Amino acid sequence: MRQLLVATRNVHKTEEISFILEGLFRVLDLSAVADAPEVEETGTTFVENARLKAVAISKTTGGLVLADDSGLEVDALGGEPGVYSARYAGPGAEDATNNRKLLAELAGIPEQKRTGRFRCVMVISREGEVLEEFEGCVEGMILEEEKGAGGFGYDPLFVPEGHTQSFAELGPRIKNGLSHRARAMEKVVAWLRLAD
Ligand code: IMP
Repeated sequence: MRQLLVATRNVHKTEEISFILEGLFRVLDLSAVADAPEVEETGTTFVENARLKAVAISKTTGGLVLADDSGLEVDALGGEPGVYSARYAGPGAEDATNNRKLLAELAGIPEQKRTGRFRCVMVISREGEVLEEFEGCVEGMILEEEKGAGGFGYDPLFVPEGHTQSFAELGPRIKNGLSHRARAMEKVVAWLRLAD
């Protein structure tokens, strides 16, 4: 089976990408790469950060490298936390503190104004060259309290359009059929098939 290296240490991203590529690719992440460089995410957009990760890692390894940069854009917060989703609560931020901060920022905002989307940009590179870039989005709304125990990050607060339960309640089969990551990955898979 062909192999794809994902430039991440986020086990949840690796799990979701593996789930989506099941039977097509064997997915590895940076836990399988000795001495992988730490890549600082200094970009101000998803695509800049995804490029930084894909390029830096593919310079040090052979074969194709896929980088995912993703986050939650909340309309009532002018698109925040966006590219800063992982670090929203400041230094040492974790999912729980990020979620708490998001709820505090949205306190008093009525349901119809709690709209937003998850966005995911994927960059594929080889030997330090960007080969292709892809994007996926899923619209939805932000709950007033966390619901569900599955997923990661903001999943307990996000209800995707067309559903009444959060990503954390819906579980991996449904999430990985319609998420921002799944939608970007659909395009990645089509490209990988052509590049075969
Ligand atoms: P990155 O690793 O810099 O791309 O940051 C990703 C951050 O965005 C994660 O730490 C989460 O806070 C958030 N995020 C991205 N994708 C998801 C998702 O599928 N569910 C929940 N949160 C997500």
